[in-house]
Amino acid sequence: MIKQTYLSLNTKERRELINITDKASAFIKEIGGSGLLNIYIPHTTAGILINEDEEGLKRDLLGLFEKLVPESGKYYHNIIDNNADAHQLSVILKNSVCLPFSDGRLLLGTWQSIFFVELDGPRNRQLVMTALF
Ligand code: ZN
Repeated sequence: MIKQTYLSLNTKERRELINITDKASAFIKEIGGSGLLNIYIPHTTAGILINEDEEGLKRDLLGLFEKLVPESGKYYHNIIDNNADAHQLSVILKNSVCLPFSDGRLLLGTWQSIFFVELDGPRNRQLVMTALF
């Protein structure tokens, strides 16, 4: 079977990591059983990743993004828009993750959390959660 839901997020910063693990876990708890959860982001200036929810690490990741693609860099896309850095980081990150669940619980490791990565906020964002079970 398939169950699908949308998740709406209002981001607050231009670049920020938002932990969505509780929302994904609640969706899976409702379904129960075992299967696969896909979380998809229909955006070109955002990303998704799985890693540890620790304040210092989140700052380090934002620092890494800035090193890889500086916000103030010179980019062709900025001639028509002002978010070329966000598009490029979105390519480096992913726009979906797929993870297993069992007995109504996501099989995340102890230190793993799921993050929506805003790269051109603040904006209203939609995520699509699809469970196959
Ligand atoms: Zn753009």
